[in-house]
Amino acid sequence: MELQQHILSMQAIVHDLAEENRTLKEKMADLLRCADIGNELTFEEGVYWHSGYPYCPPCWDVDRKPVRLAGPVEFPTGDYLEAWTCPLHKVQYMLPWNIVENRQKNNQSSS
Ligand SMILES: [Zn+2]
Repeated sequence: MELQQHILSMQAIVHDLAEENRTLKEKMADLLRCADIGNELTFEEGVYWHSGYPYCPPCWDVDRKPVRLAGPVEFPTGDYLEAWTCPLHKVQYMLPWNIVENRQKNNQSSS
């Protein structure tokens, strides 16, 4: 009887470990993906860039989260700027007109 008890508790432990292992693997894959993106980020015009898209600097610097900016929202200021927004911080970044479009064109032609 006691042996059966042991087997049952061992089964529970194995189950927990398998579960923990799965969670850790997922977390590691996530971190590796972020690190890959981090290696390829460049800093220009006050934001980070990856694959021709702008990324939020505080999100990466503080949280190590690659957060793509949403936009653009056109600004009728006559300054030829467009606004890109971090979906987490709701902070707006002003970038030169069409810069993202141009960078994507460059990105496609260089790869
Ligand atoms: Zn952000």
